[in-house]
Amino acid sequence: MRRGRMGGKDVEVFALFGDPVAHSLSPAMHSLAFEEMGLPARYVPFRVVDLRAAIQGVRGLNIRGVSVTIPFKTEAMGHLDELDESARRIGAINTIVNRDGRLWGFNTDWVGLVTELRQWTEIKGRTFAIIGAGGAARAAIFGVISEGGTPLILSRSARRGKRVASEFGCGILPLSEFNSVRADCLINATPVGMAPDVGLSPLPGLDLARFELVMDLIYNPFKTRLLRDAERAGCRVVPGAGMFVHQGAEQIRLWTGMEPPRDHMREIVLERLQAHDGD
Ligand code: NAP
Repeated sequence: MRRGRMGGKDVEVFALFGDPVAHSLSPAMHSLAFEEMGLPARYVPFRVVDLRAAIQGVRGLNIRGVSVTIPFKTEAMGHLDELDESARRIGAINTIVNRDGRLWGFNTDWVGLVTELRQWTEIKGRTFAIIGAGGAARAAIFGVISEGGTPLILSRSARRGKRVASEFGCGILPLSEFNSVRADCLINATPVGMAPDVGLSPLPGLDLARFELVMDLIYNPFKTRLLRDAERAGCRVVPGAGMFVHQGAEQIRLWTGMEPPRDHMREIVLERLQAHDGD
């Protein structure tokens, strides 16, 4: 990592761009990682009011890297100098890397997803029904395909779902036909069930027992209503917190070229999620 100097000490500045950012777990997770890695770096959350100006600020202030979150993951692509091929295919970035003044866009959500999923199941040769057709679903579809698996999109909106299916060359069914879906695993890539709406599920009362594994990309709450229903139906369940940690760890690898302390990052995320449960 190349460093600028500040107050006699080398300090690198990293940022989070989103709106809202107040409840984000990224500042705690990244700050802990930098500290444990012995890097004199600061990670600062910004609630962005003008994305173009914010990205100009990255150049002007020599901010070394940025995490990009809702609602800027797609819009940010238009303000960068270069795009990684996977980000281009997914159609969204969540990471900016400042390489000598040229701003590169990457997507580490898909890497986070497959890194977590691989710890639970073989991806190659298996079928993954994915609910949703937004940014997270696109990252999941790309990740599953990259690892040799087969995604099947379950979308409530036919138009958006069909467009995504034709782009990635995969199957699609309306969510209303859920009962006829045959797949090894199920992935929720919608925000349904996310705090504060923790009583909601995208599939309330529907039979989940035929899936060996159910993953929810939502990480707050740690265990969503969907995962609790799936557990009761006898499925193994994968909370989104692991993906969140791995996508953040990949950001640090891209920014610094160094491997961050994933276990400790996971610990602080779980600790903060438990604290949020009491909100
Ligand atoms: P998004 O771009 O807004 O897409 C949301 C998708 O969910 C859309 O396809 C939408 O359908 C669908 N949807 C919304 N409400 C629905 C409902 N009631 N029934 C069926 N489908 C519904 O959001 P996103 O960026 O993909 O994020 C989705 C979730 O993934 C969020 O909870 C986010 O926190 C999570 N996520 C987690 C990680 C992680 O690291 N664990 C990373 C990224 C995202 P329409 O197309 O019809 O609108």
